[in-house]
Amino acid sequence: MINYLEKVRRNHGIEHATVHVLSEATPNLSLVGRADGGGFAIIGDVEPETLAAAAQEALRRMKAGQGDLAVHPRCGTQLVTIGALTACAAFFALGRRPRLSKLPDAMIATTLATFLAPTLGMTLQKYVTTSPNVFAANFAGVSKRDFAGISFWHVDIAWEENGER
Ligand SMILES: [Zn+2]
Repeated sequence: MINYLEKVRRNHGIEHATVHVLSEATPNLSLVGRADGGGFAIIGDVEPETLAAAAQEALRRMKAGQGDLAVHPRCGTQLVTIGALTACAAFFALGRRPRLSKLPDAMIATTLATFLAPTLGMTLQKYVTTSPNVFAANFAGVSKRDFAGISFWHVDIAWEENGER
């Protein structure tokens, strides 16, 4: 059986792949996605029919071997990684007693961290926050959701409990 966190990781991967497919058709599309145990939500300017077609295309392509679609450069994992890494870099460069003379060290350290963080973020996505293992996934429709006065679409993904490969 696939546990909840594993479902979220895999749905997160399908979410990224779907955004990749949508962006191929509309390059400047700005969308926000959020995965959960039952699929993923998409907030942005997209028609439900377009979203449904893109999600099915994403699943088809991932099952055909395009697992790298599960990683996306504009994922929240990237921002969190950049924030955490630069904060740590500044903390260590400034030391216990921050002094103005240590500012250049802190600037070098945070610049280096900002430079390295995107690659680290993509690696974290690949191995931790997403999974390309979607062989047991089935597209189950697009439903309308409302939360805090915002309407958005939710792509429902059904997982076959015995469909593991
Ligand atoms: Zn993401």
